[in-house]
Amino acid sequence: MSNTLAGSCLCGTVTFSLKNEFKCFYLCHCRQCQKITGSAHVAHLFTQPDNIQWFSGEENITRYDDPKRSFSKVFCAQCGCGLPFVNKSGNALIVPAGVLDDQPTITPSHNIFWAERAAWYDAALLAKHCVGFPE
Ligand SMILES: [Zn+2]
Ligand SMILES: [Zn+2]
Repeated sequence: MSNTLAGSCLCGTVTFSLKNEFKCFYLCHCRQCQKITGSAHVAHLFTQPDNIQWFSGEENITRYDDPKRSFSKVFCAQCGCGLPFVNKSGNALIVPAGVLDDQPTITPSHNIFWAERAAWYDAALLAKHCVGFPE
């Protein structure tokens, strides 16, 4: 297992790498994370604020900080793909797991804000598995 993980946005403009050293891995089901992803939850890895090396596309990174609550969304202005960012308090780098091209060693430990999960999420866990689209 490599100690360095590569990451890139969907369009390939933004590329980076970071060390495979994470404090925790949470799936957050809060309402804001549903909005941010347009889906059921975020999958966020937490690491040291300085654990990132940007290779390209830094000028394309756009940040949205919610004025009221402590959450942010950082993304590629070109393709909208979520990207790593330092949280408002500055004590952690938050990495959306799906943006990594290599897999981290750590696995999710908690589903947080579970009470706010999408009404359809429990049913989704029981939905059929297909290789591609359903037949
Ligand atoms: Zn992009
Ligand atoms: Zn959340």
